[in-house]
Formats: sequence, structure tokens, C-alpha cells
Amino acid sequence: MPEFEGVDYYGLDELLSEEQKRIRKTVRAWVDERVMPLIADCYENHRFPDELIPEMAELGFFGANLKGYGCAGVDNISYGLMMQELERGDSGLRSMASVQGSLVMYPIYTFGSEEQKQKYLPALARGEIVGCFGLTEPEHGSDPGGMETTAVDAGDHYVLNGTKTWITNADVADLAVVWAKLDGEIHGFLVEKGTPGFSAAPIEGKFSMRASHTGELYLNDCKVPKENRLPEARGLKAPLMCLNQARYGIAWGVVGAAMACYEEALHYCLERKQFGKPIASFQLVQEKLVDMLTEITKAQLLCFRLGQLKDQGKVKHTQISLAKRNNCRMALDVARKARDLLGGNGITLDYQAIRHMTNLETVYTYEGTDHIHTLIVGHDITGIEAYR
Ligand SMILES: Cc1cc2nc3c(=O)[nH]c(=O)nc-3n(C[C@H](O)[C@H](O)[C@H](O)COP(=O)(O)OP(=O)(O)OC[C@H]3O[C@@H](n4cnc5c(N)ncnc54)[C@H](O)[C@@H]3O)c2cc1C
Repeated sequence: MPEFEGVDYYGLDELLSEEQKRIRKTVRAWVDERVMPLIADCYENHRFPDELIPEMAELGFFGANLKGYGCAGVDNISYGLMMQELERGDSGLRSMASVQGSLVMYPIYTFGSEEQKQKYLPALARGEIVGCFGLTEPEHGSDPGGMETTAVDAGDHYVLNGTKTWITNADVADLAVVWAKLDGEIHGFLVEKGTPGFSAAPIEGKFSMRASHTGELYLNDCKVPKENRLPEARGLKAPLMCLNQARYGIAWGVVGAAMACYEEALHYCLERKQFGKPIASFQLVQEKLVDMLTEITKAQLLCFRLGQLKDQGKVKHTQISLAKRNNCRMALDVARKARDLLGGNGITLDYQAIRHMTNLETVYTYEGTDHIHTLIVGHDITGIEAYR
């Protein structure tokens, strides 16, 4: 494959600042040089490239749009472009950065005490410690408000009991942000690896997100020090605010995966000959390529405007839901079309389409399923809740 040049049919680059383009160029080059040579092997062997974590930290991926505490403090369009380029490499890498930044650093940054911020944020930004976010439970996915994990005040500490599942980074995390009900109200707790009563295990046999750590967290009479509760996080709104940050990154990230699939399919169709001609010369093939490019372009425009609104402090969570829903649908559809255009080769890891396609099945489901985002926007425009 030639070097990735990006997909920019509508000249969106003209709207980017020199700094935003510089950041994208740096991440793009890093992904080409460091991720692309090893990602198919990682995927095949069900392994996250942990060796890249220090470099990811060095490039400022972790909590990039937060300010202070060793974070890069970039604007939200730059942050989105970083997520786009990372996910152009693999959704597993973007997931790692999303969890570390949006689901672990953001809640500490937003709901934590000054001591908690000083203690954890710089180390998380430097990648010295890895975090995870424990919200989903075996019986409560789309409806996290029904969670069964409890915290009980035991004087100088809390006692946590429960199980969290489908947790990115669970089995390798040094620090878990665990959501539990204390006197019936949801609170966030910082649970360090090695805390008595706390353990984790990987989930095996995934056919999606194979280059990503995913596991379960177990809390059995887990003793969490009093100072490890996030003082400002109260109620379901707190974890939902974290998810909103991550969903913003996902809306951008999946565009990267779609761009990778489109570019690969375009090159393939120009080179692959059937009936004595490049398959790109057939009308049905061109239609697919044009559909892919059109949907990518529309998704890029959504992201750009979403970034502007976020930087202006005006973005609504429903607007993020609309973009997460649309762009995940779009990316999955583009990946499937690319897989089709690659014919039999499309089912091998020699090409990117099948890896992105299977990853995107997860991205479509996590951080709010397609249905849930439909209902969030539906609620917003009609005023009627249709979740239950
Ligand atoms: C690889 C991976 C990584 C993940 N990482 C994390 C993580 O780091 N932290 C974390 O906390 N969670 C994580 N998750 C969990 C993820 O957020 C959940 O899988 C997701 O929220 C869906 O929950 P569920 O799997 O229990 O499905 P369910 O909620 O059981 O949904 C199953 C189906 O029912 C539909 N459905 C449910 N309720 C409604 C409704 N009211 N109306 C219409 N349809 C409905 C859903 O849309 C879906 O189609 C991860 C998941 C995966 C696969």
C-alpha cells in the first residue's frame, strides 16, 4: 500500500489551522511507521501492542484535550484528528486512548479532589499507569442506572461488592474508575490494582477488538480508602458525562477507520483486473466507491462542526449522540463495502477491511448502542422518552 494521504473531497483541510494539520501529520506518520507494520499480527494473536504505550504518551494522546497536569491541552478539533488517525490504524488503539483520556482522566479531572488530580493525572498522561472504566455489568449494559454494584460506608473506608464486564484495559489496569451505588446513589471510586478484594480477568475469544485488552472486574468485599471516592461525582449524570467525552472521540475515530477502508478499496479496484479491465471501470463498483466517499465526506463535516461547537462550549450531548450514531453506521457500512470490493482477499488480514469491519461491530455497540443513541436524539426532538 502507498503511504496514507487522507481523504478530503471537500477541501476541509482549508478550514484547519497549521497547528491542527501539524498534529494530524505527526500522528499519521507515527501510525504508518509504528502501528501499520504490526497491527495485523496483533489482531491475529489477540494482543494489544503494550510496547506502544510510552510512545502514545509521548505524542500526547492521553487526555490530550485536558489542560494542565501534564496534558497536551489541544483544541477539540486537534483532539478529534488525533483520534481519527489512531483509529485509521486500529479501533483498539483509539479505544485505549479514549479510555485513558475520556473515561479515566476526565472523571478525575472533573469530579476529583486536588489531591487525586495531582496523584493520578500526570502519571496517566505519561502512560506510567493505565486506567480502566467500570460501568457495564453482566446484567446492566444499556441501562447502567440499574447497576447492582454497591459501596457501603465502613467508617474509615468503603466496602465495594459487584462485577463489571466488558471493561477495556481491565486485566492490565493499574487504576479502575468503578461506579457503584452508595445509599442508592451512583458514585465513582478510584480502585488501585492490589487493593484487597479487587481482581480482574481477560475476556477470551473475541472476534472483534482483538488488538485490545477487554476483561472483567471483580469486587469482593473490596476495601477502598475514603479518600478514593470522587467527591464531585453524584448520580448517573457523572458516568454519562464521561461517556459523552469518549463518544466525541469515537465520532471522529471511526471516520479514520472508514478512510482507511475506502483508500484501500480504491487502490485495489484500480489494480485488480477482471474481464480484462480494472474492476474500478465497472459502474457497479464505481457506485460503491462513490457511496463510500460521499458518506465519509458527510461524516467529516459533522465532526468538524461538532468540534467547533465543543470548543465554543456549546455542544449538546444529543449532538454528540447524533454524530456517534451516524458515523459508526457509516464506518461499518464503508468497511463492509470495502470488504466486498476486495473479493476473497477481503477476508484476509493481508488487507485492512475485515479487521476494521469486525472492530466496528464493537464500536457500533459500545458507548451507547445504535438504538440507545437513536432514542437519545428521539427524546430530544419529540420530548418523549422511549427507553422503557
Ligand atoms: C470490546 C468492548 C469494550 C467495552 N469497553 C467498556 C468499558 O471500558 N467500560 C464499560 O463500562 N463498558 C464497556 N463496554 C460495554 C458496552 O458499553 C456495552 O456492551 C453496551 O453498553 C451495550 O450493553 P450490553 O452489551 O449489555 O447490551 P444490551 O444493553 O443488553 O443490549 C442488547 C441489545 O438490546 C438493545 N436495547 C437495550 N435496551 C434497549 C432499549 N431501551 N430500546 C431499544 N433497544 C434496546 C441494544 O440496543 C442492543 O441491540 C465494552 C463493550 C465491548 C464489546
